[in-house]
Amino acid sequence: MITEGELNPLRVANHQFNQAVPFLDQFKECTGMREWLFEPEQVVRVSLPVRMDDGCVEMFRGYRVLHSNARGPGKGGFRFHPTVNEEEVRALAAWMTWKCALVDVPFGGAKGGVACDARLLSEGEKARVTRRYISALGDNIGPHTDIPAPDLYTDQQTMAWVFDTYSMMHPGENCFPVVTGKPVDLGGSLGRDSATAMGSLYVTEHFLELGGLPGLTSLKGADVAIQGFGNAGRWAARLYDDAGARIVAVSDSQGGIFEPGGLDVKRVADHKDATGSVVDFPSTKALAPREVLEVPCDILIPAAMENQIVESNAGRVQARLVVEAANGPTTPEADVILHDNGIIVLPDILANAGGVVVSYYEWVQNLQNQQWEEHEVQEKLKKKMYRATNVVVTSRAALVDAIDHYRAEWAVDHPDESPLDAPTIRTAAYVVAVGRCVKTLMERGIWP
Ligand code: NAD
Repeated sequence: MITEGELNPLRVANHQFNQAVPFLDQFKECTGMREWLFEPEQVVRVSLPVRMDDGCVEMFRGYRVLHSNARGPGKGGFRFHPTVNEEEVRALAAWMTWKCALVDVPFGGAKGGVACDARLLSEGEKARVTRRYISALGDNIGPHTDIPAPDLYTDQQTMAWVFDTYSMMHPGENCFPVVTGKPVDLGGSLGRDSATAMGSLYVTEHFLELGGLPGLTSLKGADVAIQGFGNAGRWAARLYDDAGARIVAVSDSQGGIFEPGGLDVKRVADHKDATGSVVDFPSTKALAPREVLEVPCDILIPAAMENQIVESNAGRVQARLVVEAANGPTTPEADVILHDNGIIVLPDILANAGGVVVSYYEWVQNLQNQQWEEHEVQEKLKKKMYRATNVVVTSRAALVDAIDHYRAEWAVDHPDESPLDAPTIRTAAYVVAVGRCVKTLMERGIWP
């Protein structure tokens, strides 16, 4: 039985961070570094009264967490979801800090959210919640302090309302860089809508080319299952299909579909547009939402929510590679089970970083009043994602080579604890990302 505490994303984020600490000497040299890095710089909680279509007033609760601005202004999406709470947003903001550092964009980490069920809100109600949220945050967001973007159940239209609301509060200023993921005719970047999925594809493709998964060197002919059919999942289905993979299963919040011979992705997308769900797509086997995680395939892409691969179902995952397009889809207990079963995980802070990379490109274009061609964006994104993949793979190899040294040090400092685990790809990614943040903190020092 999994308890609520085990599924707390902040516990997961803290555990993942702690796995990297024994491999970073700076933590030994500076007591307090762990708290300095992991604690958020600022947590803002706002209450949002909103007039509903039926004339009643409903109160919503919103959050914005700036985890770190050590490497640049805060960057991170905001979501509309009933489970949004302070701890979830704190975890998501910390993941943004490590992600931006790993792909080496000059941002810190932030995240936001409003506790609400966006599926039950009309378009007008969603606009009013967004506008009230942005006005309540005031100057806690800004082009050089903290820059929001889309996440679960928020999209280009939501970002257009953010831009407009902030512009009304700051007349006469260039407000385009205050938010990314905007519509292209409102300062958005070409390639931003597909960027999260495209980034995951580049990471996977390069990892396979580097020989990361014995017996599979390319996406061509690989069987892929995808959980979630929103921005990340739907684009992933299309792009992996275009790259020659076979999409055997997809799902959304209402359920999933499985066809071992491969789905016609375009027709599934049309079916979702027409009916609101992938469920009941003809000539496929129906799946419960989480069953998609357990179908036979080479590559599994969780692209929905956190805490989907957990202790109770990890043993039934049949994929050989898990590519985390969602944030925090795998709990630490599940990570151990996957590892023991020889299943490799490309972690969220690497696999879904394409979104923030193109958000960075959007921000740069907005600051300079430019619009880049789509091929420029794609070339730059590919280079960034390949480079980050190389750094993680190389860092892991170096850590594994030196594991005897780290284990000896660990045994001296922690004589009563079990030996240090060999680093996974996730831990290697954290060592790179956290190491970069530590370096900038040390360079900047503490003011005053
Ligand atoms: P979205 O709102 O566009 O889509 C979410 C999808 O997940 C929908 O298809 C929904 O039906 C499905 N879903 C929700 N609950 C589910 C459940 N219990 N089981 C199965 N499916 C479920 O959101 P998105 O932007 O695609 O974000 C998905 C994930 O990717 C989130 O974890 C988000 O943090 C992460 N992410 C998104 C971006 C981005 O640029 N949008 C960037 C990085 C990471």
